[in-house]
Amino acid sequence: MNIIMFGPPGAGKGTQAARLQEAHNIKQLSTGDMLRAEVASESTLGKTIKSIMDAGELVSDAIIIELIGSCISEPECERGFILDGFPRTVGQAEALDEMLAHMARKIEHVIVLEVNNDILVERIKSRAAESGVTRSDDNAEVLRNRLEVYETQTAPVLPYYEDHKVLRHIDGMKSIDEVTAQIEGVLANIN
Ligand code: AMP
Repeated sequence: MNIIMFGPPGAGKGTQAARLQEAHNIKQLSTGDMLRAEVASESTLGKTIKSIMDAGELVSDAIIIELIGSCISEPECERGFILDGFPRTVGQAEALDEMLAHMARKIEHVIVLEVNNDILVERIKSRAAESGVTRSDDNAEVLRNRLEVYETQTAPVLPYYEDHKVLRHIDGMKSIDEVTAQIEGVLANIN
């Protein structure tokens, strides 16, 4: 089973993807985590990526597609995967389909977490305040830019998947457990 978790920053994609990984024994692939690891390695690429992430902009499709391409062909993804934070552009979605077609695989579900932007801002602020780890892109100004980038570059991915009839809309404003229950309900109905 191959799943995409879709939604704006702070919608809960990472939390729900981790739960799906646990419950279904399929691999969570978070491009944000992979990029943060590259930044932490202090490589030349990491330094370039850091300035892009800190500004709330998107890292180039070429870098991201290569990153994901090498992961989904790994044995740990054989049973399936949950993409968390990818694709974020139509170009990424098209490249993903092409890679999957070569592997005779496809995306079965795009779980869209529907949330209210005002509440998102509050959530991200509290994530920044509460977590021991401070993300340098979790501040109000960068967040506004990340939401704008989501609207202009990432939301246009939705019509692409609408055509593929794989969109599953979920109310992301409910509690974490309720959101998980909705997602499990959707997966159980369609499988
Ligand atoms: P996230 O942890 O998913 O919120 O991602 C944090 C940051 O990493 C984003 O604001 C982007 O700068 C970068 N990033 C993560 N995934 C992607 C992607 N699929 N395409 C481009 N940039 C990405």
